[in-house]
Amino acid sequence: MKKVVIQKGKEKSLQRFHPWVFSGAIARKDSHIAEGEIVEVYDAYDNFLAMGHYHTSSISVRVFSFEKVNPDYAFWKKKIEQAISYRKLIYLFDNENTTLFRLVNGEGDGMPGLIADWYNGHLVLQFHSYGMYLMREMLTDVFKDLLADRLKSIYNKSATTLSETNAFVPANELLYGQLEDEILVRENGVPFYVDIPQGQKTGFFIDQRDNRKMVGEFCRGKKVLNLFCYTGGFSAYALQGGAELVHSVDISKRAIEQTEANMALLGNLAEHHEAYAANVFDFIEEMPAHFYDVIIVDPPAFAKHHKVKEQGIKGYRNINRKAMEKLKPGGMIFTFSCSQAISKEDFQTIVFSAAAMEHKNIRIVKHLQHALDHPVSIFHPEGSYLKGMALCVE
Ligand code: SAH
Repeated sequence: MKKVVIQKGKEKSLQRFHPWVFSGAIARKDSHIAEGEIVEVYDAYDNFLAMGHYHTSSISVRVFSFEKVNPDYAFWKKKIEQAISYRKLIYLFDNENTTLFRLVNGEGDGMPGLIADWYNGHLVLQFHSYGMYLMREMLTDVFKDLLADRLKSIYNKSATTLSETNAFVPANELLYGQLEDEILVRENGVPFYVDIPQGQKTGFFIDQRDNRKMVGEFCRGKKVLNLFCYTGGFSAYALQGGAELVHSVDISKRAIEQTEANMALLGNLAEHHEAYAANVFDFIEEMPAHFYDVIIVDPPAFAKHHKVKEQGIKGYRNINRKAMEKLKPGGMIFTFSCSQAISKEDFQTIVFSAAAMEHKNIRIVKHLQHALDHPVSIFHPEGSYLKGMALCVE
């Protein structure tokens, strides 16, 4: 196996089980390491540190083991069994009420570069590293083995997540079975259609499940605005929670059509719903003040990486200021950031400055994060990308 040697003093983070080796920490390496090849990592005194996939990018090695192992079928099977056991522990596996969940959450499940989402029998694999992608056939066999007759299809949806790799970029492809156009799932009993190939991410924003449930509990008799609604996740919970009216806004026409189809699944409750294909920044400017009791602000990542962090901060601040200004006094805002570059502290500072600029007294009701099926490794705090706050605005 090819070797990568770390500079003296740079081995600390690996000794503390952080799963990334940055290119700047490497002293030397064997020649001709292929993109995605499995390598062993050593310190300057030739002590073994870790094993992982090598890539020519700022994260050079993504570590999947801190012990010398044979990374064969049995090794990966055990890892995926552990991921399944955890979903059983939190009652998501074989749960009739919630038929979609994240089965493998990258570093959080000790498998950097691999996301696996379960949609009522259909498994979507999203590779975030070329090394993991190279193992897709073996992984497909492991999933077939472990999920057996529950499994209807396995789909590889990595065309965009691997677009920055230095190797060949694969198209999305079916790896096993038959995919349906629109899959009907249930989340906490609430029905949704999911379009896996055309939808965003793997099809649904599964990470918001627990937050959607919380929002639903505060909507009885309320006027609710769901900004950046995608396929209407928060809107459906608000309607089920007894909202007087729910307005959903997204810039994507397709997302708005899907939102309408999803609200139609709720029967008569759909009469309380209206969807708008619009730019949120225009919509919020034009909408009446002090009309909505609850506003949900769940934008796309405004700061995809550290270089654009400042710009992202401004984006979050502006949208939160507007929501605070327009909300009915005494109402609630559920606000989120899914940017990895924005920390929980950064996000609280953003909301703080928005409140100060708007002269609003605000109570933090609760700090929010991703759902339980998105575990974060204690050694990899970067895995906590979703930050949210429930606010009561005077
Ligand atoms: N809250 C959603 C997920 C939101 S993802 C859920 O629970 O499922 C972010 C969404 O913002 C995407 O659907 C994207 O189409 C939309 N979007 C991005 N920029 C926008 C803009 N300027 N105005 C309105 N929607 C926008």
